[in-house]
Parts: sequence; structure tokens; C-alpha cells
Amino acid sequence: MKKIIITENDPNFKYDIASQPGAESFMRCFTCGTCTASCPVAEVNDEYDPRKIIRMSILGMREEVLSSDILWMCSRCYTCAALCPQNVKFTDVISILRDMAVKEGYVQPERLEKALELDKVIQSLRCRIIENKLHPEENNSKEILKAIEDELGKEW
Ligand code: SF4
Ligand code: SF4
Repeated sequence: MKKIIITENDPNFKYDIASQPGAESFMRCFTCGTCTASCPVAEVNDEYDPRKIIRMSILGMREEVLSSDILWMCSRCYTCAALCPQNVKFTDVISILRDMAVKEGYVQPERLEKALELDKVIQSLRCRIIENKLHPEENNSKEILKAIEDELGKEW
């Protein structure tokens, strides 16, 4: 596990986040873990942990957070925000962190738009796979595989 050296972190990072609309209450997080326990992405990806992202942000780990691939895993479903006992709107925090990652040059600006488009594609694939399961006789598996292949071929 990487050692955290507080003096190397950015003490202003948490204030930069909290000053944005939607993130005002994020420092109220008391690490209960409800967000992580309820998150559909965390359920399938051990690396994804909203509680940890908040803790790292409060600790000032600006570069680690903003350069992390994990920022782009959130499906923005709002489950965590709905259940948080401290009214932390983590979905809004993630959007703010993504914006900051763009503004501070960690990713290309187009990534924001592409992330939203990809969420739609993933939802559409989900519906198509369910249809395929419900109506296997219609056999749309080739179209589904083609849609996945097309998506994987796009630059991100
Ligand atoms: S549910 Fe809220 S208080 Fe609990 S860890 Fe997540 S953000 Fe923090
Ligand atoms: S909004 Fe993101 S972090 Fe929150 S529960 Fe949904 S996928 Fe998980």
C-alpha cells in the first residue's frame, strides 16, 4: 500500500471541491460506507470505492484523484447520494472532479462528453441484452456484439 505523506498533499483541494455547487456538504462525510455498499459499480469492481475517493479528496490527494481512471467508472445513478446520511451528493462530487481533471489537464476536454455518450450506449446495451434473454428466438446477439465492437473501436 502506498504511504500517504500529508505534507506532500494539497490542503486546498477539499476547499476547491466544496466551493462548487453540489459539493458544499462533502466534507461532512463520516466514512460510514453506505455509498460504497450501495454502489452498483463497487459491487462489480473492487477498485471502485466512493468512500475512498472522498477520503483521498479530503486528505488533499489532488494528483492521485484527478489522474485516476476510477473517476470515469461512476454511472451517475445517484444511489449513493440518495442514501447518504450526511447528505453528501457524491454524484455531483464526481462530476466536479471530472471537470477539475479536464481543467487541470489530466484528460482531454472531449472526455466529459464522451463519458456521457458512453453511459447511454451502456444503458442501451443493457436493455438489448435483457431483450435478448427474454426473447432468445429473435436472436439479436450479432447486433449486440457489433455495437460493443464499434464502441471499443472509438477513441476515448
Ligand atoms: S454514505 Fe455519505 S457519509 Fe457515508 S461514506 Fe458515503 S459519503 Fe460518507
Ligand atoms: S452515482 Fe456513482 S458512485 Fe454513486 S452509487 Fe451510482 S455509480 Fe456508485
